[in-house]
Amino acid sequence: MHEKRINKIGIFLKEEFGNRIIKLPLDGGFTCPNRDGSKGTGGCMFCSSTGSGEFASNITEAMKLFSEKWPEGKYIAYFQNHTNTYAPAEELERKFRTALACEKPEIVGLAIATRPDCLDDEIYSLLERLNRETFLWVELGLQTVHDRTAEFLNRCYKTRVYDEAVAELTSRGIRVVTHLILGLPQGTNADGNAVSESRAQMLDSVTHVCRAPLFGIKLHMLNVVKGSPLATRFPNYEPFASIDEYADLVVDCLRMVPYNITVHRMTADTARPFLISPSWSYRKRTILNTIEQRFVMLDARQGDRAER
Ligand code: SF4
Repeated sequence: MHEKRINKIGIFLKEEFGNRIIKLPLDGGFTCPNRDGSKGTGGCMFCSSTGSGEFASNITEAMKLFSEKWPEGKYIAYFQNHTNTYAPAEELERKFRTALACEKPEIVGLAIATRPDCLDDEIYSLLERLNRETFLWVELGLQTVHDRTAEFLNRCYKTRVYDEAVAELTSRGIRVVTHLILGLPQGTNADGNAVSESRAQMLDSVTHVCRAPLFGIKLHMLNVVKGSPLATRFPNYEPFASIDEYADLVVDCLRMVPYNITVHRMTADTARPFLISPSWSYRKRTILNTIEQRFVMLDARQGDRAER
């Protein structure tokens, strides 16, 4: 396939740094306001107690491991677990700078995953300073623009809050990556079974977020993972019947995403022991190949149906 049908982040970073860049998932020891009661309790319905970061390790452990394994590698320190701006600005600064100060392996940038309702003036200013010093992006877990679905999921903030955070971050020149999940349950039917968002609703989410000058987008199917409220309430929930059906939707979504927005993910990455459904979700290579083959078959390209 022509590698340029999709503006993949891996290729973008290789061009930017002249080297392959690896994302190093870190657990900065943060918690989540949607678990400790300050915004909500119980967490988002799809999230396991690991805070969607079962691959992440603490900063010192990760640095040691990677400096031994690939001492010449270049990395983006990815603060992945839970809410990575949920602490006073001084504590955030200390943790982010600990990662940045590492010489072996070399850290060339920072990626910080958070909730849009966990950013304030001091944190925006810190991010702005860091952004001047290193290659930074902030990843916002939005999942859907539909507030009704968000309420069912227990996301505990409105989409308006996300829109305001994106406006503030981008006005300060900070790169934003938005995380959306495809196949979210939006409520239940008369039999008490979970009902997925429609295809039109999912495409609406993509169109809405792409109106802002995003740096990147992250898309993947909903996984039912062990330890999540979803696994307890709706263990058999499966919004896509097959890899083909899912791939078809991803292609339609990416055709709506302007080409200058980098694509950070097109499928989920749940480790197999944690996965309940879809049973095929761990077949990452097959899913990605199916998406790419479909782009070729349609002679399509990311953004060829975008609004701008
Ligand atoms: S998805 Fe993020 S905000 Fe929601 S419960 Fe998990 S860590 Fe907290």
